[in-house]
Amino acid sequence: MRVLPSATANRLSNMLLSAAERAAENLRRRTYEYETGRTTLRSLPDVFAIESTNFCNIRCVMCPRGEPDLMERPLGHMDDAVFRKIVDGWEFFTEPCWFHWFGEPLMHPRLFEQIAYAKAAGVRNLGISSNATLLTEARSSQLLDSELDTLMLCIDGTNAATYEHIRRSAAFTYDEVCANVRRFLSLRGRAGRPKPHTILQIIVMEETRDQVAEFEAIWRAAGADEILFKQYTAWGNQSEHDFTALAPLEQRSRLAAATRAHACYNMWSSVVIAWDGTVVPCCYDYDTVMPMGNVREQSLAEIWNGEAYRALREAERSGNNMSPLCRNCTEAPGYVTDPSAAPPPGYPD
Ligand code: SF4
Repeated sequence: MRVLPSATANRLSNMLLSAAERAAENLRRRTYEYETGRTTLRSLPDVFAIESTNFCNIRCVMCPRGEPDLMERPLGHMDDAVFRKIVDGWEFFTEPCWFHWFGEPLMHPRLFEQIAYAKAAGVRNLGISSNATLLTEARSSQLLDSELDTLMLCIDGTNAATYEHIRRSAAFTYDEVCANVRRFLSLRGRAGRPKPHTILQIIVMEETRDQVAEFEAIWRAAGADEILFKQYTAWGNQSEHDFTALAPLEQRSRLAAATRAHACYNMWSSVVIAWDGTVVPCCYDYDTVMPMGNVREQSLAEIWNGEAYRALREAERSGNNMSPLCRNCTEAPGYVTDPSAAPPPGYPD
């Protein structure tokens, strides 16, 4: 047996430090940096969402890309060069790492090639969310043959009147979309495949809240692995369009009140990447009004500690974040911090 020199062996053993161990170490650093309000970070972000496309074929009333269509940025599909740069240059992905943001991912012409690339590159849990309008038999088979880990299918309502009022389309009906989903679940069952892990999602709005129990019963019986009751979002309350009007009644005043108790953890923890490579601090930034950089021009690590991110963190930390994205946000994740927290062992100061 060939014996490796010890330095090489150490390097190898570092490399073999599992992704889980590196992520755990990264989390210790991130926690310390958030708690103490640091703005230049040694920790790295998780990639929360990669926008495959912002083309969409329906107009949902709770979506800024829907009805009305508030989005002003150009429409496009993420190209292979941008996608590969993200996947090749990064190691921390949320699980699942969502390969959608705005738009319907099944409209991307190279979706399956890019899924294959990401899986070959080691992204552990890759997911897409789809409105299921294009979930034909052929695409169902392609999904089952792909290595996609997680598939979220979104149907808001348990009857045509509710669904078609929320997810507006001249082309697709509630019955057709449900039939697509049932066929997919049936094909997956017949193939005996556990993947993709299939989640049926309903957004809890005033209009759907009384249907969630029925929704769960229907889709559990049809073979869904998981049912998700997604909490309604008003997109950080950034738009003049009143998204709060669709929320469950008792949530409306909280969503509309422009205060938040804690610094937004998103700025210390994750990134969202639009189809053209623009990096933004969170998924509410539907029009990329707070661009932190672009992966076409910089690495994610450079963007993460670039001037824009550092300035945003400083403003957030000091309670002066008046950016158009965040100033009215009531939905930021965050918690009570401890500015005197000690650094984790080995923290490179
Ligand atoms: S404060 Fe709100 S809008 Fe701003 S990054 Fe955080 S969650 Fe997003």
